[in-house]
Amino acid sequence: MPITAQHMREAIYPRVDASELMGALNPIKAGSAYKLDCPECKGSRRAFYYPGGSHVVCNRRDNCGATPSVWDVLESLGMTSAEIAQDLHAMAGIDLPDDEDDRPSRTTRSTAAIVQDVLGAFLKCDTAAWRYLTHTRRYDDAEIDTTVLGFYPSAQVVGAKLKEAGADLALCREWDVLPKRGSESRFDNRVVGYWQQPDGTIRLWGRSIDGADPKYTFAVGTSKARPYGWARAIGPSVCVEGHLDQYALRTMGIPAAATGQNQVTADQAATLASNGVRELIFLADAGEAGYEGILRTIACCEPLGIVTSFSVTREGEDDVDALRAGGRVETVHDMTHDAINGGVFIAQQIIRLTDEFSAAHTDRIARLYRLRLNLTDVSRMLHDRLLSSCGVEPVADEESMMRVASAMSRSGMSLDAIRHQLRVRYGMTIRFTAHDG
Ligand SMILES: [Zn+2]
Repeated sequence: MPITAQHMREAIYPRVDASELMGALNPIKAGSAYKLDCPECKGSRRAFYYPGGSHVVCNRRDNCGATPSVWDVLESLGMTSAEIAQDLHAMAGIDLPDDEDDRPSRTTRSTAAIVQDVLGAFLKCDTAAWRYLTHTRRYDDAEIDTTVLGFYPSAQVVGAKLKEAGADLALCREWDVLPKRGSESRFDNRVVGYWQQPDGTIRLWGRSIDGADPKYTFAVGTSKARPYGWARAIGPSVCVEGHLDQYALRTMGIPAAATGQNQVTADQAATLASNGVRELIFLADAGEAGYEGILRTIACCEPLGIVTSFSVTREGEDDVDALRAGGRVETVHDMTHDAINGGVFIAQQIIRLTDEFSAAHTDRIARLYRLRLNLTDVSRMLHDRLLSSCGVEPVADEESMMRVASAMSRSGMSLDAIRHQLRVRYGMTIRFTAHDG
């Protein structure tokens, strides 16, 4: 009965709140996460666990830095592998896998597996790529083990090794793992990962390790419709542009997905919406490109009923990965907790541009007002409430808050977690009052 780390990460962890199995570590709710005793350094409630997350993360990186997987934590608490597998599958509502595997065809699967093996082995022996991950990105070995990454020295070297390992080379060319004859590879000297496609095949993405532009490259014909690493999770979906940033968030216990560009696209929004996502947090970069990406994400997601929130790294400030490397895990957790609603973001921009009284802003302001028409009820209510502080009539809409709360409840969030989200994201509280007769 093969239960792989990948299966746990993609199919099981996102669907479970494993805190109830970690009672010995004294978990208490803190926002949408739990604080609990660190299983490594034993520090009292120094570690974080996010329901839906795959790891427990100790927040005192300098002292400890432990990032054990949920599985390892449960093992350290005395559960056997069989018990862990059984309990977590039951919680996720998923049958334990048996030996039968009717996923994509044998050639497809084995060539995909060979590609991952070959490129993964290059990563372990290529000192430049390893140095990039361990020094520049400051991952430790255990963290690299939680990723599914490889290294691509050159098309020639990779081609020879794939042939030797028995991969279907025609398939490799079709997937752009090897360049078509006469064209150049777009992955030479890059750390690479594998983007699962809707048809079960894979396409590579590459991240430069020597400052080469562009930072990220993608195989010809890559479908980005399913955000990289996305799995249905309890609570809001967290998205970020870069694949390595996505891994950075994961090592901090936040189940995140990568969009592969500075926005959530219409395709991705459709995939998320049809999978029941009702709330999304996008971690955007500062600057004009980040701003543009936020507006496009709002335009793609909100009409489909996904309430958007944004957290923007301020200019000159560290990005997610630098914060992680610096041990500032709590700052990153705060960023996701305190993300600004999309409607509020638009209202802030309208106020800012209006205050500047420049004719040059007319088109931009008009665009922002058009975007308002796309907003979900919740975001529009928040938008209008902020604008009302500038003299526009406020819109009070308890019904839309009810809809948000019930969507959260259906996604499995506890009442405490819903209360917290409504408070930080919408400035609302819910209270039930008993009265007699
Ligand atoms: Zn610790």
